[in-house]
Amino acid sequence: MFFIFGISSGRKDLDFRQTMICTVCGGYGRYEVYMEFTCFSLFFLPVFRWNRVYYVKSSCCGTLYTINGDLGRRIARGEPVTLREEDLQLVKTGYGGHGHGKKRCSRCGFETEEDYRYCPNCANPLD
Ligand SMILES: [Zn+2]
Ligand SMILES: [Zn+2]
Repeated sequence: MFFIFGISSGRKDLDFRQTMICTVCGGYGRYEVYMEFTCFSLFFLPVFRWNRVYYVKSSCCGTLYTINGDLGRRIARGEPVTLREEDLQLVKTGYGGHGHGKKRCSRCGFETEEDYRYCPNCANPLD
């Protein structure tokens, strides 16, 4: 007799939106919360989940935080929760907002990390 079992991980988006001014990129954004978990299944039926981790992601620049399980469970239950800065544990700082990436001039190939609107080398508009 043998068992067919598997361990997989899953992700569930929680119904949570909170607008904020981002402390990382300074832009307006939203906090979005999702949960990741590990799932043990037997004969393709999920038996239990563990390792639940609640993540908060900022919509502006994609900075990722975790919050403690208590707070996460309250959000999952749909309780009104306001996230404060001290609730958030930084996982990684996101980039991809405006003006954070390297810009490269399409005409002369000049590269800059500064937020120039025109190429300092040939005055070609950068986007
Ligand atoms: Zn941001
Ligand atoms: Zn140029």
